[in-house]
Amino acid sequence: MPRRYKPVQLNAKPVPDELLHEAATCPQCDSRLTEVLGRMGLRLLFRCGQCRARFYRHPKAAAGARFV
Ligand SMILES: [Zn+2]
Repeated sequence: MPRRYKPVQLNAKPVPDELLHEAATCPQCDSRLTEVLGRMGLRLLFRCGQCRARFYRHPKAAAGARFV
């Protein structure tokens, strides 16, 4: 059955518990209501809870979020 929206499948791997609470600022709407979706290498993959944009950033970088 075709799905209207594809689930997140970007080779993201599960993140350890301590990273699940990482916060990021959405590069699109500046919201901080973000959710950690997974990890790609050293980068954390986030989804904005407000505009649903997906982006990633390096865990230790304060800035530099990029769209997926
Ligand atoms: Zn957003």
